[in-house]
Amino acid sequence: MRSVYISNDLISLVEYQPCDDRALYDCWLDPEVKKGYNGYSPAGSFEEFQQREEPSQLFSAMIQCNRTGALVGALGITEAEIDLSIRIFAPYRRQGYGTSAFALAAKYATEILRIKELHAGAYPDNIGSQKMLRRCGFVPVAECPPEKHYLTEEDVIQMDYVYRPVHTVHIPLGARAYDVHIGAGLLEKSGTLIAEALHPARVLLVADSNVAKYDYTNLAMQSLKSQGIACSLFTFPVGEASKSLYTYGKILEACTGFSLYSGDALIALGGGVTGDLTGFAAATYRRGISFVQIPTTLLAAVDSSVGGKTGVNLPAGKNLAGAFWQPGLVITDINTFDTLPPEEYANGMAECLKHGLLFDDKLFAALEQGGGIAEAQIARNVELKRDLVLADERDAGARRLLNLGHTLGHAIEQVSGYEIPHGAAIGLGMVMMARAFCPAIEARLCAALEKNRLPTRCEYPVQELFAALEQDKKRTGGEITIVVPLGIGRCELCTLRMEEFKRLLEERL
Ligand code: ADP
Ligand code: ZN
Repeated sequence: MRSVYISNDLISLVEYQPCDDRALYDCWLDPEVKKGYNGYSPAGSFEEFQQREEPSQLFSAMIQCNRTGALVGALGITEAEIDLSIRIFAPYRRQGYGTSAFALAAKYATEILRIKELHAGAYPDNIGSQKMLRRCGFVPVAECPPEKHYLTEEDVIQMDYVYRPVHTVHIPLGARAYDVHIGAGLLEKSGTLIAEALHPARVLLVADSNVAKYDYTNLAMQSLKSQGIACSLFTFPVGEASKSLYTYGKILEACTGFSLYSGDALIALGGGVTGDLTGFAAATYRRGISFVQIPTTLLAAVDSSVGGKTGVNLPAGKNLAGAFWQPGLVITDINTFDTLPPEEYANGMAECLKHGLLFDDKLFAALEQGGGIAEAQIARNVELKRDLVLADERDAGARRLLNLGHTLGHAIEQVSGYEIPHGAAIGLGMVMMARAFCPAIEARLCAALEKNRLPTRCEYPVQELFAALEQDKKRTGGEITIVVPLGIGRCELCTLRMEEFKRLLEERL
């Protein structure tokens, strides 16, 4: 990976331009940073800060060099090359100032130059700088020797803080518009993000008993409390059986017990079960309160957390009681995927491959070798889902394309007594649809599924699956609407008689 250094020298190459001092100054007002300095803010008042000509100019120059692309020019490289990685190191000999520069340089380097990874260093004895780096999403990967008081390029390499940009996908649903943030370490920032987006006074955090075992609930609660938001945790026994009217009722009771009012919020921290349950409680408590999704499974991140479908199962079937209720914010911290069991990860990958197969051959190509999914591709999945939700919020038209592999997949899940997980089942459903309607892609699809730890052979005969299908809620009258793949990245809806669908499958599988 090629690295680019920004140093004092480079900054002196670019012309000084005034920039927004207020934004720089605001960095110092962060309670976390103040804590790092035992409550003392080195910036003083805003007026004092503005008079400190030297650091202010340096910050501005640095920002400006990023903004104008002068950096690119000064280094004599192309923008494509800079796409890889960039390193900045404390360009200021005076304690405390480098961090604000990092904050802003990180923002511009990633947003304007679209740099994928930014490495930074800070004075090792400067707790405030290091906290600021963490707050800006930098994650330390090594320690610098404590006896050093200023940094050389080598030190920076040794004491790397790696920054990966946050990807934000906006869902423009008018008054119900919201953002989906995807990045590493976002749980630590969840309080700030939630406070900014929704301003709740109190929140009830909902997690299943398994997710509550990890540090995730603590991270979120600490972050919320640091923003002055009162918060309480509700946990329920892990598993699909909890997606019930009983647990739903318990959540509503917890809402009254914790005195949530209409300006407050419910937060779902977990997978699809937690999101659906909590969302349904939010949709109905006091006729609807704000709701935040913090998906901790890949499946929830790319699928259930976006689009506003909420609900619980009834004894007669899955998702039979529910509501459309959009979240006010979605926060995906990809660090939580580190503890996800491999089969859960594979479940999410099946939906991602589905999105690629439906709409985006590039996405499919990025995933077909296995090896996981990057933030940018998670964001791409969310965008694809968003576009369909926008076209069809209530699930009547284009959104039905997302059912690729699902008609047969649901039947497979049912016939297996839910032994076969959702992702595996829809993977099998997609293979059957490909074999029947677009045999040219079958081999490539199977290879992609295998690389992503998903099965490709379905043991159940068509007759058995159709017996289950007869009860499928998607069937209206004697007709069924199926999603037919036409190639990698292309598909169409097709409505035909149930018997016809069955006959085609029997003939071709
Ligand atoms: P989904 O429908 O998104 O797969 P579920 O709510 O059914 O999600 O969760 C699947 C399982 O994964 C549950 O046992 C849940 O506790 C567990 N789980 C969710 N997030 C994590 C995580 N980040 N690390 C480990 N296990 C998790
Ligand atoms: Zn699905």
